[in-house]
Amino acid sequence: NKQVIFKGYIDRSPTETDMELRINKVELKVPKGSGAFLVKNLYLSCDPYMRGRMRDFHGSYLPPFVPGQALEGFGVSKVVDSDNPNFKPDDLVSGITGWEEYSLIQKPLQLRKILQHDIPLSYYLGLLGMPGFTAYAGFYEVCSPKKGEYVFVSAASGAVGQLVGQFAKLLGCYVVGSAGSSQKVDLLKNKLRFDEAFNYKEESDLDAALKRYFPQGIDIYFDNVGGDMLDAALVNMRIHGRIAVCGMVSLDSLSKPKGIFNLSNLIMKRIRMQGFLQSDYLHLYPQFLEYIVSNYKQGKIVYIEDMNEGLESAPAALAGLFSGKNVGKKVVRIVHE
Ligand code: NDP
Repeated sequence: NKQVIFKGYIDRSPTETDMELRINKVELKVPKGSGAFLVKNLYLSCDPYMRGRMRDFHGSYLPPFVPGQALEGFGVSKVVDSDNPNFKPDDLVSGITGWEEYSLIQKPLQLRKILQHDIPLSYYLGLLGMPGFTAYAGFYEVCSPKKGEYVFVSAASGAVGQLVGQFAKLLGCYVVGSAGSSQKVDLLKNKLRFDEAFNYKEESDLDAALKRYFPQGIDIYFDNVGGDMLDAALVNMRIHGRIAVCGMVSLDSLSKPKGIFNLSNLIMKRIRMQGFLQSDYLHLYPQFLEYIVSNYKQGKIVYIEDMNEGLESAPAALAGLFSGKNVGKKVVRIVHE
């Protein structure tokens, strides 16, 4: 069983060498009467939150990874052996699994059966998975959006951002996205239907850039990055604006956040700024699935994926998220279906 092993705790963004490949010769067996099942992993998801699990910090919403053991994360897998009446061999499932070829699933509740078979399986890690649901819950529940509002999204071409922008367009908002390369800016404007997009790396003054794209101000800022962009957005918010604090991927070290200097705008402009976790909204998952599948099938939503091949490429794929190497949702294909 080939595995990607977590080597040890870090307090910075991960690099490829923080993980290593290992062949584990211990045979995986499903214990009788355990309710467990064995899966073959087909696709693994690379997500920025995994950096948090590489820190030696136990106070977060997820426990740290265990050094010397395989990483875990969202995946799409096929059941190969089962002691659980709800999961039969050949069933396709998505949920938390190991970064390895085969995983023994001892907590069946962390996986869902895949019922919709006419959508690419890897989309269960993006469009129909945790990032898609984050965009849905964050935009509709946290941002209280209204037609015609001015919406700004950072890390806009990523797994979450590309959907936030498209949801906002479907609702009739004006949407601008920021991203870190001209290729991403081009995708935002020409494929993902954003009204405007800009490369934040080419802007020496983020406040001035936002003023250029939002001369009338921003009603909704969907923040995926934190740091300097959040500070610049605060200055450009309109009265009664909303900021959904989804993630802070720009911070190199989550334990030493950068200073935010413009928070007094919250008072002056009566802005609501709210952090959220998608997991608090899971009761909305069935309605999300219906909404996303219907819009995707009608061609009203597109999804950009960036796929790596082979478990060997997973460490670099994960590390690449923190330097913007991914163009769209990063997934790793372990085996061809
Ligand atoms: P992405 O697919 O957007 O990948 C990460 C992207 O972040 C990179 O491609 C890069 O894009 C950008 N980035 C990397 N480093 C920096 C930096 N120093 N400054 C600015 N941007 C940077 O990831 P996701 O869509 O999966 O996640 C987006 C955000 O949402 C993350 O912050 C994540 O933690 C958060 N999240 C929150 C959840 C919640 O429940 N609250 C759930 C899921 C995700 P670019 O080239 O454009 O810079």
